[in-house]
Amino acid sequence: MATLAHTARYRFQSHLGALCVLVCLLAWAMGAHAEWHSAREGIMGTEINVTLWHPSAEEAQAAIDDVMGEMRRIDQLLSPYKQDSELSKVNAQAAQAPQQLSAEMALLVDKSLFVSRVSDGAFDITFASLGSYYNYREGQKPSDAQREEAMPAINYRWLDFDKSRGLLSYRHDKVRIDLGGIAKGYAVDRAIILLKARGIEHASVSAGGDSRLLGDRRGRPWIIGIKHPRPHSGDEASVIKLPLSDVALSTSGDYERYFIDEHGERIHHIINPRTGRSASEVMSVSVIGRDGLDTDPLSTTVFVLGVERGLALINQLPGFDAVIIDREGKVHYSEGLAPSN
Ligand code: AMP
Ligand code: MG
Repeated sequence: MATLAHTARYRFQSHLGALCVLVCLLAWAMGAHAEWHSAREGIMGTEINVTLWHPSAEEAQAAIDDVMGEMRRIDQLLSPYKQDSELSKVNAQAAQAPQQLSAEMALLVDKSLFVSRVSDGAFDITFASLGSYYNYREGQKPSDAQREEAMPAINYRWLDFDKSRGLLSYRHDKVRIDLGGIAKGYAVDRAIILLKARGIEHASVSAGGDSRLLGDRRGRPWIIGIKHPRPHSGDEASVIKLPLSDVALSTSGDYERYFIDEHGERIHHIINPRTGRSASEVMSVSVIGRDGLDTDPLSTTVFVLGVERGLALINQLPGFDAVIIDREGKVHYSEGLAPSN
C-alpha cells in the first residue's frame, strides 16, 4: 500500500513537472512570436495609439517608432503653441505679405477651404483669432469685449489662397488660422501610409478622436466604440460599437476639452464661427469615410451644423456616413447607416 501511494504521488509530481515545462515553453513561444503589437504616447496635445500585426517584434517596434516620429514632425509643423512651427510663422507674416506654404500645409489649407465652402462657413480655420483666448485646462474664455473685437476677423473669405503656387495671405490684419480641426485626421492618414510602405496589412492608428484602420483584425473587423458623452458610474464606456475595416473614423465630442463656467454653461473646444461660442446643438459626432483628411474636418463641421443640417450635408456627400448624439442623448444615423438599410 505504502509503495502504491508513493508511486501515485511520484506520477502526479512528474506530470505536474511536465505540465510546468509545457506552460513555460508555450509562454516563451508566445512572447517570442507575439504578433499583435501596441503602443501609446502623448503627442499633439492628445493620445496616440498604434496597434499593428507583424510577425517580427523588432520590425513592429521600428514601425511604431516611425509612426510616433511622424506625429512629432506634424506637431512641429502645425502647432499653434510652438513659435517656430510653420503655422506660427505664417500667422505672424501673412497679413503683411503672401507666404509660401509647404506642400503639406497647402494641402491642409486647401481642404479646409473646401469644407468651409460646402458647410457655408461652419468649418472655418480663422476661428483662431478667438480660439486663442480659450484655455480649457485653466477655465479661461474670451471676455465679451475680446469676442466682439475678434469676431470680424473670423471669416474664411479673408484667406487669399493661390493654390497653384501655394501662396497664402490674409486680407484682414487680425486673421489667424489654426488647423486643430484637421491635423489629427491628416496625421493618422500619414501613419497608415508609413505602415503600408513597411508591408503591414493590419493596423489601427488613432490620435485622440481620429482613427484610421488598415485592413481588418485578421479575419474579423475592428470594433470601434463611440464614447458615451456623459457616462455615469455603471455605464459602459461606449454607447455604440461599430465593426469596421479599412476606413477612417473621426469623433468630435464636447467632453474632450471643456470646463463648466460660472453660469453652468459647458465651454468646449468646438466653436461656432457665427456666434463665437461653443457649439451646443449636439454632444458627439462621428464621421466615417476613406481618409482622416476628410472625416476629421467633417466631424467638427457636423458638430457645428447640428442634426438636421449636419445629416443633410453628410447624405449629400458620397462615401461618408455619420452617427450623431444630440443634446438629449438621442442617436441619429446618416442614410447609409440607418437601421432600415
Ligand atoms: P475635433 O476634435 O476634430 O472636432 O476638432 C476640434 C478642434 O478644431 C478644436 O480644438 C480647434 O482646434 C478646431 N476648431 C474648433 N472649432 C472649429 C471650427 N468651427 N472650424 C474649424 N476648426 C475648429
Ligand atoms: Mg474633427
